[in-house]
Amino acid sequence: MSRVAYVNGVYQPHGQAVIHVEDRGFQFADGVYEVWSVFEGRLADFDGHLTRLKRSLTELKIDIPMSDGALSRVLAETIRRNRVRTGIVYLQVTRGTASRDHAFPRDVAPSVVVTARTIDLNKGEALARTGAAGVTQPDIRWGRCDIKTVGLLPNVLAKQAAREKGAYECLMFDEMGLVTEGSSTNAWIVDEHGKLRTRDAQANILKGITRMALMKLAESEGIELEERAFTVEEAKRAREVFVTAASSFVMPLVSLDGARIGDGRPGPIATRLRDVYLEQARREAI
Ligand code: PMP
Repeated sequence: MSRVAYVNGVYQPHGQAVIHVEDRGFQFADGVYEVWSVFEGRLADFDGHLTRLKRSLTELKIDIPMSDGALSRVLAETIRRNRVRTGIVYLQVTRGTASRDHAFPRDVAPSVVVTARTIDLNKGEALARTGAAGVTQPDIRWGRCDIKTVGLLPNVLAKQAAREKGAYECLMFDEMGLVTEGSSTNAWIVDEHGKLRTRDAQANILKGITRMALMKLAESEGIELEERAFTVEEAKRAREVFVTAASSFVMPLVSLDGARIGDGRPGPIATRLRDVYLEQARREAI
């Protein structure tokens, strides 16, 4: 089936969808993005991602390109035209196209791109049942990781480091040895005392929408959570390690830098939280 991309008001064949060479996203990574997961053709946590999108744009003083209603229609139409039942929809907004100059251009309309693709949920499901491998490396990103910018080169390098070691995700750590987050995920542990922990969300990590959903679910499941950073060493000693993101939900890591986590199988808390998260995301998708 031929795919379709939305580019600045026009639905185009995916293979021909292009952005100008002087788009500031291309030249300066001067833009932001969001990813929603799609269940039965419907968006999971539309409002959570929309709220973060507007915050990212506002922090960078990029104009909000369209109303919530218009954006919701573009996302839905892109999903429909690509016949996505289960998968993801990707939105990118950049400051727009202007003659190359670092300072913000005047009177430029933001560029908006939307793509959608099908993802086979069975593959992720199979990996979640066995558990995935993780590696670690220093976090070399800038100081505003709370903004979901398309400037992802350090994240790309971290993910590639994981792939080259046959791992699924790379957890990054700061100068104190404390885990910040994964290259495209938030990181969690059930520590050696059985306490569920995830780092508090300051400017040095992205406040994941899945993270926020999971915090509420943990509470309703009666699982006590501590928003407190943990070291790589604590993660290696933990009973469970897992990562969360809109596209992978809750993914247990059963090894870290080759060291086995717990008994080397996904733990009960990660498994339970994945189940209840998926149940809720499916039920509440709009
Ligand atoms: N941290 C980083 C660096 C990410 O790229 C992502 C996914 N975009 C996340 C965390 C998870 O965020 P979310 O749950 O909103 O997908």
